[in-house]
Amino acid sequence: MAKLSASMTSKTASAVQEIYRPIIRGYFAVFAAYYLLLLPTNFMYYQGLDLWSVVGIASLTSAVAVAGFFRLRTKVSIELLERLLVVLNFLVVMNVVVTLNLMFAPEKLVYFVILVMLFALASVSTRQSVLSIVFSCLAFLTFVPRIGAGDQATYGFLTFGAIMASVSITYYLRKAITYIATAKLDAEDQLEEARVVGESLRHKSLSDSLTGLPNRRAFFEALRKSKHEVTRHEKESRDDPRAPVQNLWLILVDLDGFKAVNDVHGHLVGDLLLKEVSNRLSAHCGETAHVSRMGGDEFNIILKSSGDETVIKGWCDELLEELAKSYVIEGRYVRISGSMGCKMMDLTQGARSQINEADYALMAAKKQGKNRSVIFTAAHAKQADERYKVEQALRFASLPDEIELLYQPQVDLRQNRIVRAEALARWSSPIIGDVEPSKFIKVAEESGLITQITLTVVEQAFRTLSLWAAPVPIAINLSCHDLISDPSIDQIIDMAREFKIDPTLVEFEVTETAMMIDLDKATTNLKRLSEMGFSIALDDFGTGYSNFSYLRRLPIEKLKVDRSLMENSGDPMTEKVLFSLAGMARTLGVECLLEGIESEVDLLVAKRVGADAVQGFLFGQPMSVGELSKVLENEAREKASPATVTQ
Ligand code: C2E
Ligand code: MG
Ligand code: MG
Repeated sequence: MAKLSASMTSKTASAVQEIYRPIIRGYFAVFAAYYLLLLPTNFMYYQGLDLWSVVGIASLTSAVAVAGFFRLRTKVSIELLERLLVVLNFLVVMNVVVTLNLMFAPEKLVYFVILVMLFALASVSTRQSVLSIVFSCLAFLTFVPRIGAGDQATYGFLTFGAIMASVSITYYLRKAITYIATAKLDAEDQLEEARVVGESLRHKSLSDSLTGLPNRRAFFEALRKSKHEVTRHEKESRDDPRAPVQNLWLILVDLDGFKAVNDVHGHLVGDLLLKEVSNRLSAHCGETAHVSRMGGDEFNIILKSSGDETVIKGWCDELLEELAKSYVIEGRYVRISGSMGCKMMDLTQGARSQINEADYALMAAKKQGKNRSVIFTAAHAKQADERYKVEQALRFASLPDEIELLYQPQVDLRQNRIVRAEALARWSSPIIGDVEPSKFIKVAEESGLITQITLTVVEQAFRTLSLWAAPVPIAINLSCHDLISDPSIDQIIDMAREFKIDPTLVEFEVTETAMMIDLDKATTNLKRLSEMGFSIALDDFGTGYSNFSYLRRLPIEKLKVDRSLMENSGDPMTEKVLFSLAGMARTLGVECLLEGIESEVDLLVAKRVGADAVQGFLFGQPMSVGELSKVLENEAREKASPATVTQ
């Protein structure tokens, strides 16, 4: 505390001195000018030795005053300031003493009174002002014997009065200056405090509170800065062929299965895991790359490198290896991996579109099986462009006019007849023409436009059913978004009521991957549909998890084995796989339908493995309702004729 107050005093003293400096400088300037102007006039009044003594002391005084004036341009120590003032004041007194000795007149003693006042006013410390006043008084006293008793009393009182007045004025002046200096210091302290607070607020606004990594805002700032640096480097090295080429890489990192960690271990473990992942990312990036957290389990890296694609891939793979090592969090072993999308930045292009391209590469890494890095290439650019066109056309499509449904028969192998038809969407866009369903459904799912498509398909299918005199049950595909969206399911149920649909005539097909996005929500919604009497089929079976534990919890009535499993139906191994999948359906007590039956061999295999139903080109391509009705009529006719024998 004592130390603090001492340092405060010296700080205040130095601030006081800084306020005095220009005043004292002006004081020096006045004396310099006064004695320089006085010099020539001395030649009119004095001669010989007298002249040289007057000129000598005046020259010395003006020289000291000029030197002091220049020295005080910059900050000086208080001791030097005091010394300069004492010397100047002493010389000024000596000037008066010399001239009075040569030409004495009692009234000239008033000079000392004026000097006392001046010295007191233009002083920087008490000791300096006292010393200057003492000079003046001593000099005055040497002349006292030369005047009469009356003058002695007059000048004595005058000098005393001058001393008192000057000392009190000086006291209040010093007080005022000290007050100003303290106020200035306080203002400076507050300014500094505000700067520190501002700095810390800026730091906070640029960093992620959980991991301490730079945040989204900081990422964009760093990207701008890096782009600027690389552009400058490019310009500077243009004339130097030996200078290494420097490229700017944008790497997006997304953790695989982070949601599952949160669900299984809880959010606390999830948060700690994110911190650990951040540490590993920072350690790998070091000084060479800038890593930031964009939110959730997404991180962005900006890497400046002269290496080619192989080098970047190697750098990313090393980081992936690091991330995939197990973590010990709260005493539990947790494993996670990451996927990465990389894009070499084109410095002439905007950041937004290139971030989207890196994101496209990241999506590709996820689709290729995760825990890998993918570099955005020209082929990706072409795909992305196509995808963009499809998405734009979908956004502006009038879906009820542009979507048409075709129906593909499903045949029951025991009854040997069509028991259901799957409704398959066809889109004919006036802008980009016909688009394959697998393509536009994927784009619609990724862009969130699928909900509108589903509702259009459901409405068309329900309308067809309601107008059909002898309807065949139909199957409608649902997407992941539909399954986890309560409003979508509500709307489907409302439409079923509106069209007075018999729920036993409708089956909804869902995929395992769709349900895995939010198994609990999907299960709840499937139960709602099932409780209303709709049946549920699990589509694309055999390509996903095919896990007993969750299959048992779902209200499904059918497993639709994906047609990719029928591709090598002649292969004994394929048959074994199909056999076990059909066995799984039996164990679960649900029906088994094999898709992709294109040939008699496929059909034979389907029967051998114990499938209940089949669907495929052998029984019909997807067709219009009119065509399907005819097929159904033919089938009914053939059934009615006892001579007809079918497969
Ligand atoms: P999916 O639900 O598995 O539908 C079966 C797909 O297999 C259909 O392709 C059908 O034409 C095709 N297919 C049927 N039998 C055979 C065969 O013997 N050989 C071959 N090679 N293919 C056969 P499509 O119509 O192109 O549909 C592709 C996928 O698009 C569908 O697969 C489904 O996932 C999706 N999709 C189609 N319509 C809709 C819809 O209305 N809503 C949703 N959410 N998805 C739909
Ligand atoms: Mg289907
Ligand atoms: Mg299927």
